[in-house]
Amino acid sequence: MELVLSNADIAFRDSVREFLDKHLTDRLRAGARATPSVFVEPDLALEWQQILDKQGWLVYHWPEEFGGTGWTPIQSYLFEKECALADAPSLPVLGLRLLGQVICEFGSDAQKTEILPRIRTAEDYWCQGFSEPGAGSDLASLSTRAELRDGQYVINGSKIWTTHAHHATHIFVLARTDPTVKPQRGISFLLVDLDQPGVTIRPIQGMAGDHEVNQVFFDNAVTGSNNIIGHEGQGWTIAKFLLEHERGGSCFGPKLLADIERIRCRALEMPDGDDACLADDQVFARRLARIELAAQALETTELRILNEVANGRQAGPQTSIIKLAASNLRQEVDAAALTAAGYYGLNLETQRPLYGNGRPVLLDGEAAMMAAPRYLNSRAWTIFGGSNEVQRGIIAKTVLGL
Ligand SMILES: Cc1cc2nc3c(=O)[nH]c(=O)nc-3n(C[C@H](O)[C@H](O)[C@H](O)COP(=O)(O)OP(=O)(O)OC[C@H]3O[C@@H](n4cnc5c(N)ncnc54)[C@H](O)[C@@H]3O)c2cc1C
Repeated sequence: MELVLSNADIAFRDSVREFLDKHLTDRLRAGARATPSVFVEPDLALEWQQILDKQGWLVYHWPEEFGGTGWTPIQSYLFEKECALADAPSLPVLGLRLLGQVICEFGSDAQKTEILPRIRTAEDYWCQGFSEPGAGSDLASLSTRAELRDGQYVINGSKIWTTHAHHATHIFVLARTDPTVKPQRGISFLLVDLDQPGVTIRPIQGMAGDHEVNQVFFDNAVTGSNNIIGHEGQGWTIAKFLLEHERGGSCFGPKLLADIERIRCRALEMPDGDDACLADDQVFARRLARIELAAQALETTELRILNEVANGRQAGPQTSIIKLAASNLRQEVDAAALTAAGYYGLNLETQRPLYGNGRPVLLDGEAAMMAAPRYLNSRAWTIFGGSNEVQRGIIAKTVLGL
């Protein structure tokens, strides 16, 4: 599907393309292409972050008073689409997109003045401490405790699946400050420095060989009472606001479509063992066509929601539709890429990083090297940010009204 753009939007898109041609280096593009996960390593992300900040385009989601660009929703979408098509590295969304917007919306004046600039400059690198060993989908049952003693919160408990905690300087935590009220009412949103004796970070290795996630333990860790966002008991409301931003408002369709096109090109080169190529295989061609139609439908849905946002409505729980469709498609696209890599796709390269001077020797090109790590890594899509089953529950209840 091609969006019908106004002349102003075409000029905007062209200016983004020109900027990317000029500033997105081959090193950054290659690093982003050779990353199996949603998150690139901080060396790539931070270099790209600085380039965008210099241009004034880093915190385009934020209100203009805090450095936002004032772009329309369609301009933000075009920017993300062009970045995805040009293989730009992903940005550290946990600070920039999630916490940044939470502070803009719920933070005190002091938090806005002190923390927002440090997120922009990457002086602070944030991770998200929501899930616990006994509380994932059922987040409201979380048991990490925070007790106010002598002007500071004392925190005990553990968070799990904490992405990039090993790189982070700080963590935003949902903790129980009042165990006597209804579970949702007793939760608060706290900002915690990771560099203190009461915090231990234990790595968890993913099945593709990546170290992305961790378990974080709090043993009498502390944070000042001024490091609460909003007021005590408001954590659940803030978490719901954050999760809507985590699940939607993103631009998944164009990247999926670009990846499908790459698979189609690769299938033209892949022999099918019968003097033809994989692209001629009717079963594979139909499979790719079906995925492509679904990705086009996703892009249309993304644009439809964007249009509603542009007209002043909230994206709301419809973002669950995007999260569900994008997660399923990501896995289908990565499975098709594995098929298109043929025998070479069976090789699981576990050395990291897969870019830069020390990268592994390529057996059959970059796409083949990336196929297995990506296929395994993208299993997580239907779990993180709320599992498929949970998204279906939200859609049934709040979108369809069942
Ligand atoms: C790669 C990765 C990165 C992550 N990063 C972070 C992070 O940075 N910070 C963070 O806080 N968390 C993070 N998570 C955690 C993630 O949000 C949780 O894994 C997710 O919410 C599911 O929780 P759970 O793992 O406890 O599974 P459970 O909630 O125990 O679910 C187990 C199964 O039961 C199903 N189920 C549960 N409830 C229902 C229901 N009501 N109806 C139907 N089926 C249901 C689920 O769909 C799932 O299949 C990450 C997870 C992954 C895999």
